[in-house]
Amino acid sequence: MEVFQGKASFKGVAIGKIAEMKKADTVVRRTHVDDVDAEIARYHAGKEMAQKEIMELHDKALKEVGEAQAEIFEVHAMFLDDFDDSVENIIREQNVNAEYAVATTGDNTAAMLAAMDDNPYMQARQTDVKDVADRVIRDMNGGSGSGNNFTEQVILVSDDLAPSETVQLDKSKVLAFVTRGGSTNSHTAILARTMNIPALCQTPVPANVDGKMGIVDGFKGCIIVDPDEETLKKYEEQAAAEEEKKRLLRELKGKETVTKSGRKIKLYANIGGIGDLNFVLENDAAGIGLFRSEFLYLQSNDYPTEEEQFKAYRTVAEMMAGKEVVVRTLDIGADKQVGYFNLDHEDNPALGFRAIRICLTRPEIFKTQLRALYRASAFGNIDIMFPMITSVWEVQQAKKYCEEVKKELHDQNIPFKDVPLGIMIETPAAVMIADELAEEVDFFSIGTNDLTQYTEAIDRQNQKLEKFFNPHHPAILREIQMTIDAGHRHNTWVGICGELGADPTLTEQFVKMGIDELSMSPSSILPVRKIIREMD
Ligand code: PEP
Ligand code: MG
Repeated sequence: MEVFQGKASFKGVAIGKIAEMKKADTVVRRTHVDDVDAEIARYHAGKEMAQKEIMELHDKALKEVGEAQAEIFEVHAMFLDDFDDSVENIIREQNVNAEYAVATTGDNTAAMLAAMDDNPYMQARQTDVKDVADRVIRDMNGGSGSGNNFTEQVILVSDDLAPSETVQLDKSKVLAFVTRGGSTNSHTAILARTMNIPALCQTPVPANVDGKMGIVDGFKGCIIVDPDEETLKKYEEQAAAEEEKKRLLRELKGKETVTKSGRKIKLYANIGGIGDLNFVLENDAAGIGLFRSEFLYLQSNDYPTEEEQFKAYRTVAEMMAGKEVVVRTLDIGADKQVGYFNLDHEDNPALGFRAIRICLTRPEIFKTQLRALYRASAFGNIDIMFPMITSVWEVQQAKKYCEEVKKELHDQNIPFKDVPLGIMIETPAAVMIADELAEEVDFFSIGTNDLTQYTEAIDRQNQKLEKFFNPHHPAILREIQMTIDAGHRHNTWVGICGELGADPTLTEQFVKMGIDELSMSPSSILPVRKIIREMD
């Protein structure tokens, strides 16, 4: 028995046979060619085939895992479009074969992405660009299948998994993903979260595990290869207990979130994109309390257009079928950096140019998002929420932009609804003036992640400060109470969408404090519903 420690990107326990992902052999040799035109034509034929395949993968992903995951293939198509100049130049100048020119172009682009320290999303796309190059090379040589047609359910082990590979897999056959490389930001991690199966990355599994028995422990972040009988038995019991827990919780599906004395609480889900919707529906959220819309920007290479955003918001509104969907306007800055925003370097980004501060300074970006949101409002039950508010004038200014957008849409005869507006309460300043803010908006949602950081003066990203970071600090609990009371004095409903909202040790206390809504990652919904239904 051997244990290999990695990083868990999604929790859970999986037991089964290990299968090493088979990759097509794309070893490329550099050879001399005389007829460079024929070589360039060969490249274009391969490229055309690759383009077609990428579009097919895009459509397959769209059907199976949603638009957010499918978008990666638009990135692939874009990488491929940019190959031409470099590939043709290498073939002509060096009189070399097209395979070599494509592989070199792929490697050079990957190196360029690797250097993008300020853009982790693009940095993580190195695997994608290499995947595109490999595809073209394969297609120039007649193409080839992946050979990953499993007959039984397996723990899939691989160096790294490109989205094009995950999308081709028969997902009903995958018990868990384990990659030697990769990051928690990778699409494999996102896919695992959507599929609700454990995933590990950066796990140093040796090459000879194919066919062996394995256990993936997503709680401890490790894989056990060839477990002994005692370990296997222990994990089988744990997996059965997990399954039983899930089964019991599933019985709560369709039931109201209400205390025995009849107090109803809105139990909503937090999402980052359309790909999370399956999970929201599966866990029976009564609505979406926080759609972190900045993920649309993080997944993109340029500002998402009004049309792209409209489609995403409309899909969420339609899929939630009339249930409330709170979309937070973009919260870029601080820990969420996007290269194309060209934000200046800041010594103190958490206290810097982020969220509503960017929106009010660059209204063209803000109004594009607001137009998309108002247009989507005609298709469901959308609320708009502004992040990082500290002053009343910010809310008034944001509302002014909403009025401008509504007037434009009205003049253009484009349908929209007069959506409820709310703000995040995530700064101590907002707590202190909550009475004044409540007069301006329909709802508050307390962002305890940032509220804790700003109240305790502790950078939420700094691991060294973990022992000082206390989400249960009495100051935070008092701030929550103050916000609820201020909101209720002005008929403004109050929720929590920070991580603390899912803390089962505080659920009863929140309900007693008068909270109206709790929004959390979908997997926490049924356990919290259980607690509330057992309360008097
Ligand atoms: C929060 O600050 O609690 C919150 C929900 O927002 P985010 O974690 O996206 O900053
Ligand atoms: Mg926040």
